[in-house]
Amino acid sequence: MIKIRIRFEVQTERMKILVTGGAGFIGSHTVVELFNNGDVPIIIDDFRNSDPFILERLKEITGNTPVFYNLDCLDLKGLEDVFEKEKPEGVVHFAAYKAVGESVEKPVMYYENNIGTLINLLKLVPQHNINYFVFSSSCTVYGDPEVIPVTEQSPIQEASSPYGYTKQVCEKMLQDFCKVNQNIKTVLLRYFNPIGSHPSGLIGELPNGVPNNLVPYVTQTAAGQRDQLTINGGDYNTSDGTCIRDYIHVSDLADAHVKAFAFLQNQISNFHVFNVGTGSGSTVLEVVKAFEKATKVTVKYFIGPRREGDVVSIFADNSKILTELDWRPKFSLEEALLHSWRWQQSLSD
Ligand code: UDP
Repeated sequence: MIKIRIRFEVQTERMKILVTGGAGFIGSHTVVELFNNGDVPIIIDDFRNSDPFILERLKEITGNTPVFYNLDCLDLKGLEDVFEKEKPEGVVHFAAYKAVGESVEKPVMYYENNIGTLINLLKLVPQHNINYFVFSSSCTVYGDPEVIPVTEQSPIQEASSPYGYTKQVCEKMLQDFCKVNQNIKTVLLRYFNPIGSHPSGLIGELPNGVPNNLVPYVTQTAAGQRDQLTINGGDYNTSDGTCIRDYIHVSDLADAHVKAFAFLQNQISNFHVFNVGTGSGSTVLEVVKAFEKATKVTVKYFIGPRREGDVVSIFADNSKILTELDWRPKFSLEEALLHSWRWQQSLSD
């Protein structure tokens, strides 16, 4: 019997990609990686969680001026005009609120924005020849997991905040959408804890007011803007009593989006979910120590009470993304913290 071996070349094409929330923290880093890949990102953002100077910085980093629309994604007509004018092939949807505590205070605002913007996009996507859709989800969908690390098969548990619930609803909406729109290939990326900034320190996270997240609080404390860091609980059942998270460099996370579009171009099935994490967890105290080691700057802290709703320990089983997307994190925790510090210093200048 003669065996015929057919070799399939994995081919990917450069694409025009609509990036909602493209001036935001993860969005702006993804725009950089898309440009680096030769793609053409089109940004939609209304700067509610960003600033126009980020667009200038994107030009400085990449040498490209991104096409930009100042638009609220709840504006269906405005969105439709952008789809008609730009004719993108792919969409990556970041534009959403993300503060857990704020979502408890303002649930309706979160439901309206996070779910409403996705509804608008999913109304338009089938009418405008969009082939690829990548959605920003979160490991918050796993709730407080019984088994760690979490895989993509780990149970989705009751959300501990309206923010978490919006991510669960959006995931379900996309799953249902994909069943009836077989030609639109979709990836959900479940982010763990994004930190760091572009190594240049030119773009990064712009927290609104007092930061809720650990790393911006650490950098602001190191910069003297905050008196001291409160560590939320030191009596958990972990190696040093503080909570464990999987901190991933934002540029690595951004790269996962580029890899997701490349992956989708070679897929037959149209709905895929990936964890995006480093695969290892660090305690809060380990983060503080790693920051001090990387920057040689001391962080004043004290151990305060536990924060309500905190998950004790979560980190990713990232074997699926490592295998299927040919993605791997390039930056260490210390490098990520050093880059966060560079960004913080550029803001303080
Ligand atoms: N954390 C802390 N002090 C702060 C902010 C956060 O000790 O000022 C802790 C928080 O309780 C959690 C970890 O740092 O254990 C990561 O918190 P973050 O809000 O950054 O991420 P999330 O809880 O959403 O994973």
